[in-house]
Amino acid sequence: MSDTRTTGDKIEKSEVEWRKELTPMQYAVLREKATERPFSGEYEHEHRQGIYTCAGCGQTLFESDAKFDSGCGWPSFTQPAAESHVDEERDVSHGMVRTEVLCSKCNGHLGHVFEDGPGPTGLRYCINSAALKLQPK
Ligand SMILES: [Zn+2]
Repeated sequence: MSDTRTTGDKIEKSEVEWRKELTPMQYAVLREKATERPFSGEYEHEHRQGIYTCAGCGQTLFESDAKFDSGCGWPSFTQPAAESHVDEERDVSHGMVRTEVLCSKCNGHLGHVFEDGPGPTGLRYCINSAALKLQPK
């Protein structure tokens, strides 16, 4: 029997179930809000066209057209594929005030958004590779 529950658009699973489905790195990022080491993720220098989906639940999060080379060490995007697919929350951990970015469906931690990106949004969604899965076109 599965203890996965779907409440409206949300997916809720027990931590045990997440642990079974995700790699240790994906689990650390998505469920424990870890940050992968900069310049270590598989998508930082990814230039293929495609859709980046959530590694936890498969929801579409970002499109390759919004990806840019920020030099910060993590995949960076100017905007999500759909505003409703990401949630943003104030994060005051580590002595900084940042805006955390979460998958709106599984509540998985993706990364942070900063206001120093290029136009037209001026935003930089700094996302862990481990939270993403590229579906090449
Ligand atoms: Zn998700």
